[in-house]
Amino acid sequence: MPFKALNLSEPILRGVQAAGYSDPTPIQLRAIPLVLAGGDVIGSAQTGTGKTAAFALPILTRLGAHGKTRVLVLEPTRELAAQVETSFRDFARFTDLRTVAVFGGVGYGHQRNELRRGVDVIVATPGRLMDYLKDGTLSLRDINTLVLDEVDHMLDMGFLPVVKDIIGRCPRERQTLLFSATVPPEIQAIASFALRNPTRVEVGVNRTVNESVNHALFPVGFAQKFDLLLALLEKTDFDSVLVFSRTKHGADKIARRLKAANHSVAVLHANRSQNQRIEALAGFKSGKYEVMVATDIAARGIDVAGVSHVINYDVPEKPEDYVHRIGRTGRAQAVGDAFTIVTPENEKDIRDIQRFIGAKIPELKLEGFPYGPYAARPERPPEQRESRGQSAAHGDFAQKRGGFRGFGGGGGRRGRR
Ligand code: AMP
Repeated sequence: MPFKALNLSEPILRGVQAAGYSDPTPIQLRAIPLVLAGGDVIGSAQTGTGKTAAFALPILTRLGAHGKTRVLVLEPTRELAAQVETSFRDFARFTDLRTVAVFGGVGYGHQRNELRRGVDVIVATPGRLMDYLKDGTLSLRDINTLVLDEVDHMLDMGFLPVVKDIIGRCPRERQTLLFSATVPPEIQAIASFALRNPTRVEVGVNRTVNESVNHALFPVGFAQKFDLLLALLEKTDFDSVLVFSRTKHGADKIARRLKAANHSVAVLHANRSQNQRIEALAGFKSGKYEVMVATDIAARGIDVAGVSHVINYDVPEKPEDYVHRIGRTGRAQAVGDAFTIVTPENEKDIRDIQRFIGAKIPELKLEGFPYGPYAARPERPPEQRESRGQSAAHGDFAQKRGGFRGFGGGGGRRGRR
């Protein structure tokens, strides 16, 4: 079914066309009619499935023309707020609707001016929004559509009390849309408090890895992690690589060492100033930096077109973060590769991840890499490996799935698309 059949308004359809979308994704097909009908929705969808357009397009259609501030979208991070607001603005480019992104870490002046001039849609992180509510710059009295996005992440970041406060300041008569990868009891409680007779839309619950991503484990001894990262970068033909570290300090250290090895590197984590974060993302998107080292919090939900590879330098702490991280590559229709460097200490984490995604992740060895005496998995006979629930796919994955792109080739960066 084309977008045209979904009852979106004509200027919004033109906006969709200008964004280059041809057909709606499954979550868009399911959610757009529900949101247009005005009902409450709880949605869970795999990362990179087109969730933003699934709510933005019908919301903009319902808004019609410029008026009061009627739509509030809450996001857990500054980057997501900026990104989602950009999507709203892009889709609304053929209307007179006005949008603003509100988040901390930058000055108040510009945001306050925009709010005073009058906007239709606010996309905000909870903390900064609260500042404007408390100082009277803004009231939520005309909000008729509230979107609570990435609520599981809001929970992780301790935002739920502020979010509840904000919900309490919105009119009771409204449409509420809640998106969350998982709906544990705390989120169910928020849903019961904030939503009325919601329809649930689940599109590929967020446990699965996009079909378009080839992923593999690279076992190595702890002391050789960085050398293996360098070798992977050298042997891989990439456009842009997102490297994940568990900690902010670790991210800085990896970035320093990669710079010393002549890679152009950006760093994204919560201790960087907002300007540094904006510069890092913009530089990574434009191709100025070929590698971005990031922590989970900073990178969650970030949409960078053309991320060809994700490398988990550290295994993620939570299984769902594995899905989020590798959802950064292979978004929508693109194809991406995701490598995870694992050490013997990570055996349990990997078991948890495999249980979570319901699949084994193949193990690979990098040809020509001088594996040291502490290599992660001492060679065991294949049957023993199988009986321990580990993959025996050492080395043959590339042939089975048509191969990792550019893997084992001359290496280095290929021309950006
Ligand atoms: P999201 O899940 O909203 O972060 O979207 C993930 C990526 O898919 C973004 O780059 C979107 O621009 C892109 N996208 C969303 N919907 C479509 C569509 N119908 N066709 C093609 N690309 C899309």
